[in-house]
Amino acid sequence: EDHYEAGLTKTRSSFAEKFQLLMANFRAVDENFFDELEETLIAADVGFEIALKISDELQDEVRLKNATSKKEVQETIIEKLVDVYDQAGNGEDNSMHMAAAGNPSVFLFVGVNGVGKTTTIGKMAQLYRQQSKKVLLAAADTFRAGATEQLVEWAKRDQVDVVTGKEKSDPAAVVFDAVKRAVDQHYDILFVDTAGRLQNNENLMRELEKMKKTITRQLPEAPQEVLLVLDATTGQNALQQARLFKDSTDVTGLVLTKLDGTAKGGIVLAIRQELHLPVKWVGLGEKVTDLAPFDADQFVYGLFK
Ligand code: GDP
Repeated sequence: EDHYEAGLTKTRSSFAEKFQLLMANFRAVDENFFDELEETLIAADVGFEIALKISDELQDEVRLKNATSKKEVQETIIEKLVDVYDQAGNGEDNSMHMAAAGNPSVFLFVGVNGVGKTTTIGKMAQLYRQQSKKVLLAAADTFRAGATEQLVEWAKRDQVDVVTGKEKSDPAAVVFDAVKRAVDQHYDILFVDTAGRLQNNENLMRELEKMKKTITRQLPEAPQEVLLVLDATTGQNALQQARLFKDSTDVTGLVLTKLDGTAKGGIVLAIRQELHLPVKWVGLGEKVTDLAPFDADQFVYGLFK
C-alpha cells in the first residue's frame, strides 16, 4: 500500500496542489467554486464532458447534504469520484479470471509499442511465481527487433520459462507452441506478449485475432484475460487507443502504466466512463515490484491526499 502511494506521488502532488489551491480559495460552494473544480478535473485529463457531469452532480449533492465546510465538500468530491468509477463499471470486479483447475490460464497482452506490455508481463509473472504458480511466457512479438530478447531477459530475471520464435516468423505459431507446452507440461499461467505496431493497424488486429483463435482452438475457455496496456502519460491519446483495440479485440481489462510519471491520472475515470472496461492493474515504475492491483477507492483518495 505504501508502495502504491509512493508511485502516485506525482499524480497526487500536482492534482493535490491544484485541489489545495481550489480549497484555499474556497469561500462558499458557489458557481465560481464549481467552475474551478471543473478546470481542475479537466487538467487532470478526466475529460471535458465527464468533468462537467461530475461538477453538475456534485452541485446537487452538496446542496442536498447541506455541505458547507471545506471538509464536507472535499469528502463529497472524493465520494463522487469513486462513485463515477464504480458506476461506470456496473459492479464488475477487477480480479483476474482464472481457468478451471487443471487447465492453464492464458493472459493475452495487447497495446501499442512502448506502452509497457513486456515490462508489465515481467512484473506480473514474478507476482504469480511468488504465489507458487508455474508460469510460462510466450514472445509473440516476432516483428519488433529486440522484443523477444527483452522478454527472454525478464524470464531469466523472474526465473520462469519462455517460448520464442524466429524473427519475423508467424506469431500465431509461437502462440500455438506455447499453449501446447502449457497444456502438456501443466503450467498454471501463460502470458502472451504481442506486437504493437500501429502503422498497419488492420494487419495488427488480424494478427491478434489469429492468435486468439489459435489459443481458443486448443483451450476453448481461453484466453481468460485480454489485457489492453495503456500509457497513462499519453492522456487522451490512451483513450483513443482504447477505443481502437476495444473495437477489434475482446478486451477484458486494462493495465494503466506509468502512473508514476503523470499528473493526469484522471484518464482512469475517462476510460472507465466511456469504455466501461475495468482497470485491473496499474504500473507505478520500472522495477519488478512496481505493479499493483487497481483499487478505485485507494486511487481517488491518493489523488487528494
Ligand atoms: P512494450 O513495447 O509495450 O512492450 O513496452 P516496454 O515494456 O518495452 O516498456 C517501454 C518503456 O516503458 C520501458 O522503458 C519501461 O521500463 C517503461 N515502463 C513500463 N512500465 C512503466 C511504469 O509503470 N512506469 C514507468 N516509469 N516506466 C514504465
